[in-house]
Amino acid sequence: MRELPVLFKEKSLCTGCAACFNACASNAIRMVEDSEGFEYPEIDEKICIRCLKCLKAAPCRNE
Ligand code: SF4
Repeated sequence: MRELPVLFKEKSLCTGCAACFNACASNAIRMVEDSEGFEYPEIDEKICIRCLKCLKAAPCRNE
C-alpha cells in the first residue's frame, strides 16, 4: 500500500485549521490536543485509504 500522507513536516507549519480533517471522507484523521492545548491532525494508518484528499484540501500544502 502507498505510504501515509504527510500532513506537515513540522508542527510550526500546521495552523490546526482542520481542513484535512474535514476533507477526509474515511474519518481517518482525528485532531489531537498537545500539551499546550493546540490541536494537530493525526492519521490512523489502518483506516486511511491513501486517497490524498487531505493533502489537496490542506491550505498549508497549497502555498
Ligand atoms: S488520504 Fe484520504 S483517507 Fe487518508 S487521511 Fe487523507 S483524506 Fe483521509
